[in-house]
Amino acid sequence: MYINNTIKEIQISDIRKIYEKMQTYEDTINMSLGEPDIDVPEEVKKSVAYHALNTKIKYSPVGGMLELRKKIADFYNKNFDGNFTSDNVLITVGSTEGIASLMKAVITQGDEVLIPTPSYVGYGALIKMTGGMPVYIDLKENNFILTAEILEKHITNKTKMIILTSPDNPSGMTLNEKEMEKITELLKEKEIYLLSDEIYASIVFEKYTSFGKYSEKLKKQLVIISGFSKSHSMTGYRIGYIITNPELQLQVKKVSQYNVTSTSTLSQYGALTALEKCSNRKEISKIYKKRADYFLSELEAMGFKCLKPGGAFYIFAGYENIKELKNLKSLDFAFDLLDKTGLAIVPGSTFQVEGYVRFSLVHDIPVLEEAVKRLKKYMKEIQNN
Ligand code: PLP
Repeated sequence: MYINNTIKEIQISDIRKIYEKMQTYEDTINMSLGEPDIDVPEEVKKSVAYHALNTKIKYSPVGGMLELRKKIADFYNKNFDGNFTSDNVLITVGSTEGIASLMKAVITQGDEVLIPTPSYVGYGALIKMTGGMPVYIDLKENNFILTAEILEKHITNKTKMIILTSPDNPSGMTLNEKEMEKITELLKEKEIYLLSDEIYASIVFEKYTSFGKYSEKLKKQLVIISGFSKSHSMTGYRIGYIITNPELQLQVKKVSQYNVTSTSTLSQYGALTALEKCSNRKEISKIYKKRADYFLSELEAMGFKCLKPGGAFYIFAGYENIKELKNLKSLDFAFDLLDKTGLAIVPGSTFQVEGYVRFSLVHDIPVLEEAVKRLKKYMKEIQNN
């Protein structure tokens, strides 16, 4: 039977392939998925349980509960220098639905969306589903540092959107404030949307700047995407949000309404509690930083060249300096490591960069120590062969 060609050509991500193979082994260490091991805060669980028992859980208002939209605007104004009200905020089914609805609202056939690499795997397919084209910007030559100058060189008359992710998945790198100012100057007169994916903004190891700071200058262009999956480990609750100007909020809301009606009312109660009672994630950030410091130093001691994360919970490690590995495609390296050690990681090709792999730091230090032990053994074996 007939299937839309665009959909036929979209591939299941390599992360899933690794994950599925991992299920066939015993005694594995899963460092592949971006799924936090730290539990959802107790307050959130209690709030959701309370509302399930005591509140009539009906359809939520389209676009989300007003109280939650207000809280998100306040949270952004207080923590990230925004200047938002509830009219700027749209609640979505995870940030993924926010990205999908936004693409549908603004991207059409032949439009180009610029994405610096390495980049989160979710964007490309959603762009293609609207008829648009992801245009990846290779930053390897510039040590993966994005500048306004590089961005400008890639803008054409087909460019409709730029996606910037800070802290980034898979590298954890954050954008430099000076460059953000330059990017703001570059875009402020242009008819190009800036999608700033800030889903890791609460998990940071250093001073962090959100594009919220430039929301006045980029009033027409800016769309911030975020959610509760990473900050509060609420991946299964499927709740995220968009912050943008009220005109665009309305257009995206229409897409969202016809696609999903609204997100779960129970999850919105959970998100409200997350913001009221546990919005500060400094302690969680400290845990991830400790893991990142430990794992990065061990990887570097083995010869990997790692990008220094300013947040999130990943290490993106280059192996082109290691002569036994350098000719391996990242997918082959990831499968070989899994086969020989049970350690599951993600190939850099998933994020459009070869010669690198991503380690998810979603385990306590003792498990990371075991992962290091296995990796060292693997390195020794390939060096002796
Ligand atoms: N954006 C980035 C950069 C991510 O890493 C992820 C998940 O891994 C998402 C968006 C999607 O998150 P969710 O749909 O759970 O909010």
